[in-house]
Parts: sequence; C-alpha cells; structure tokens
Amino acid sequence: MNINFKGKRALIRVDFNVPLDQEYRITDDTRIREALPTIRYILDAGGSVILMSHLGRPLQKLNADGSINREKFTLKHLVAYLRRKLKTRVYFVDDCVGKKARAKAAALQPGQVLLLENTRFHPEEEKGDPEFARQLAQLGDVYVNDAFGTAHRAHASTAVVAQYFSPENKCFGFLMQREIENADRVLKDPAHPVTCIVGGAKVSDKIVLLERFLQFADAIVIGGAMAYTFFLAKRGAVGKSLVEPDRVKSAREFLKKAKASGVKVMLPKDSVCGDRFAADAAIQVHRSDQIPDGWMGLDIGPSASKSFARVIRQSKTIVWNGPMGVFEMAPFAEGTKAIARAVARATAKGAFSMVGGGDSVAAVNQLKLAKKISFVSTGGGAMLEYLEGRELPGIAAIRS
Ligand code: AMP
Repeated sequence: MNINFKGKRALIRVDFNVPLDQEYRITDDTRIREALPTIRYILDAGGSVILMSHLGRPLQKLNADGSINREKFTLKHLVAYLRRKLKTRVYFVDDCVGKKARAKAAALQPGQVLLLENTRFHPEEEKGDPEFARQLAQLGDVYVNDAFGTAHRAHASTAVVAQYFSPENKCFGFLMQREIENADRVLKDPAHPVTCIVGGAKVSDKIVLLERFLQFADAIVIGGAMAYTFFLAKRGAVGKSLVEPDRVKSAREFLKKAKASGVKVMLPKDSVCGDRFAADAAIQVHRSDQIPDGWMGLDIGPSASKSFARVIRQSKTIVWNGPMGVFEMAPFAEGTKAIARAVARATAKGAFSMVGGGDSVAAVNQLKLAKKISFVSTGGGAMLEYLEGRELPGIAAIRS
C-alpha cells in the first residue's frame, strides 16, 4: 500500500459477508479479522476509513411484501464488534450513498471509521452501475480494495468505483495483495516439480483449471467424484458413482493433451465405495475402474492415497483445489486427510503449498492443518478464477 494516507479518507471495499446467528451475533469472524491489518495500517498512518461491504443477498431474499429485509441484512450488526476490535470511533450510516453518507464521510476525523450500509441494498451495486459507483467514489480521497473474495465480480463497489480514482490514489489492501502474490508464486515461474491436486464434484467446474495446470505442472492428481468421469473416458466401470456423461469427451481430450505435453496425470487406482450416499452406507474398496453395479466411489482408496502422497511429498510447489472424497462424512474423509497430511509434510520439507478455491480449504481447516500449509486462500470462487488465468475485474480496476 504505497499511498500516504495521512489526512486522507480511505474508501475501503472489504468483505464483511460473515455468518450471523438468529440474534445477529457473528458466528465466524474470519473475514473481518483478515481485513483488520489494512484498516489499522491506514488509521495508524493518520487516515480515516470508510468501509463498504455487502452482507448476504438481500435482493434475492426480499420480505413477503417485496421490501428489503433490512433487519436481517444490515451491516449495523457489526458495529459493536468493530468498535471493540479497532478501539476507536466507528460510525454507521444507513445508506451507502446519498446526502447522509456524504455528510458523515466529510465529518470523519483522522483515526475514525465510518461503516456504510450494505451496498447490495441497491440493485445498482450488482449491475456495476457507473453513476452509483461515482456516488460511492465521492466519499473517499483514495480507494483500497481488500475484498479478494468478490474480485471476480464486476460490481460497483468492487471494480467500477475504481475508475473514479487516479492510479496513484488506488491500491490493494494487504489481504488482497497476499492472495495475488501467493497465487502468482504458483502461476509464474514456480519451483519444480509442481504438483496440482484437483478434486471435488464436477469435471465441468474444474476443466478450465485442469487445462491451465497443464501449462506448468509436472503432475496433476485427480480425485473426488470428477475422477469417475475420467474413468468413464477410459472405458472403466464406475457403478453408480457421480459422473457427467456429457463431459466424457472433454475428459478424454484432456488426457490426450496431458500425454502430448508430458504431464503425468494420476487417477486414483482404488476407491472407497458405498452402497449409497450416506455416512452409514455399507463400505467396500474396489479398483476405481471396476466398481460393481449398485456401488458408488465416495473417496480415493488406500492405495491411491499412498501413491498420491508419494508424489506430493517429492514436490517443490503444490496447489490444491477440491476434496478427494465426500470428506463431510467421516467414513469418506480419509483420502482427503491423507492428502492434507502429505501436503503438510512436503511443506515442512521446504515446498511451497497453496490450498484454495473451495472445499479443500474447509477440509484443511477441519483437520487443523492450515498452519502447516504455506498459504490457505480465503478467495473461494475468485481464487479459482484467478488460477484459471482469468482477469478479475477487481484486480484489473486497480491496475488500470
Ligand atoms: P467442489 O465444490 O467442486 O470442490 O466439490 C466439493 C464437493 O464434492 C464436496 O461437497 C464433496 O462431498 C463432493 N465430492 C467429492 N468427492 C465425491 C464423490 N466421490 N462422490 C460424490 N461427491 C463427492
């Protein structure tokens, strides 16, 4: 953040989309905690801070009479928490644009914070309306984007607003900078061997990612339900495993491309299968290409875990997206656990490891292994798109 914030009003886009309980108490404050260093830095530098964020999807969850459920989706619920954490004045204004917001922003003194109401109370936010973005921009002297999780959206507060600030008056916050730097460490000139681990439910969600990984990976490890579409492509029998028949062709083409570019693709040799999709299903281990009728692959098997772990442990760069099985159910979590442990072990030996873009983050947290991974992204869908090589509107807007 190479801006001198002294005496400046910094308009910061944060991601305060936190879960709240029935009494509107914060049940997981991770997202807010992660934004605090940027806020504190600007306050300590003699600036004031105007925070804008969305919370939930208020326009998709209207009251029965068609009005916005302001009680449920107001960001006011966060004021007391912010006061406690920041130990300074935190004001709140019940609209993110308009006269009141302008007056409160203008009156803000260095060291003070103003939290704006949920930007998604206005349909113009998600539409990326330039006039609405201009009104937001009026509130601050400089713009800071620290909401990596929404950087893939071309919304008014995440991208369009930035066009009203000159290049020297806009920047990324620390959280966003860290996400970009770590992803770039994988994408640009990574240390070899590079192993990319991809799992999760669907080939259709991950095919772009897989193709991208072909550009720099030495090995690509595939687990999760998506592996069974690959086995179909290899004419294996997969019982009633979750598959996408319409993706068999793209799976086959991917395998061909990988072969041509000399990238080793590893599929799970065996699978832990259930007779139904349930935690108390009957369990059998089968070869993944010989799953009997009536059985479904719900996790990678012990032999697959071992061979995947071996490759992972020898890697210098590891990127992981998506679980190896239905890790939410204990009997099918072992594969994901084994991979998480192997990644942690490789990291301890000096590899750079990054987990990001969805459920594998939850798995790593559940296993309490997050501290043993070099970088655990909180970026979700935004990280997935960044790894896929897409230009994220929120990043482009700051760089332009
Ligand atoms: P994704 O969001 O694409 O990373 O997919 C994550 C979801 O895929 C998790 O909810 C897992 O339970 C699910 N999943 C992983 N492996 C399997 C499998 N073999 N069969 C069914 N679902 C699976």
